[in-house]
Amino acid sequence: KMGRKFFVGGNWKMNGTKSSIDEIVSFLSKGPLDSKVDVVVGVPAIYLDYAKCKLPANVFASAQNCYKETKGAFTGEISPAMLKDVGINYVILGHSERRHVFGESDELVAEKTAHALENGLTVIACIGEKLEEREAGQTEAVVFRQTAAIAAKIKDWSNVVIAYEPVWAIGTGKTASPQQAQEVHEKLRVWLKEKLGAGVADSMRIIYGGSVTAANSKELAKQADIDGFLVGGASLKPEFVYIVNSKQ
Ligand code: PEP
Repeated sequence: KMGRKFFVGGNWKMNGTKSSIDEIVSFLSKGPLDSKVDVVVGVPAIYLDYAKCKLPANVFASAQNCYKETKGAFTGEISPAMLKDVGINYVILGHSERRHVFGESDELVAEKTAHALENGLTVIACIGEKLEEREAGQTEAVVFRQTAAIAAKIKDWSNVVIAYEPVWAIGTGKTASPQQAQEVHEKLRVWLKEKLGAGVADSMRIIYGGSVTAANSKELAKQADIDGFLVGGASLKPEFVYIVNSKQ
């Protein structure tokens, strides 16, 4: 796949206690995890430092969100500078729950992405259509619009991973079929080529998220334009190791 390194992120969402994190650390440490895969887990902010200290060296902790400013009067927010200060190098931005539960706009997600990149973070930028948008035949238009909003604010895409996560597939048990996912990934890569050039398009990891489990990850991983996964529920369970190793 044009030398794109497979990337598997876990998204713990608002789950975890110190003791449940210890259990996750235990199965991640036991692995074994394919060394040809980048492995990252999205940790609730309050546990980032705890998880980072306990995770094995081949698994990186990621924030699940951050703000678009360095510091100041933004009660409840955390900044990319703070993440870097505690040794965190990844952030998930624009997750569908941020967009649809917390009302984050395309523009805010793009501003956050630009600021996070300026501060040296790698961004897992999430995009994806809602069920009514898919049914109305708007899937591509939505995915292109969300990506274009980011493209308007950043120039260098080398520290971005795009997560295509159809909203109807997140936490629902309704996985996109390998063909449905591949179709969107392929169209997005063509769009990236037209808008941003072949260099960006060929090197961009486009990962799939939405009810990925050990039962469907291998077939999804075979698709030409699927470069990894963003995994919610199953990232809390030992089967996450199997998902990481889907290419084996
Ligand atoms: C997610 O949280 O990004 C996600 C894809 O969740 P799930 O795997 O549980 O559908």
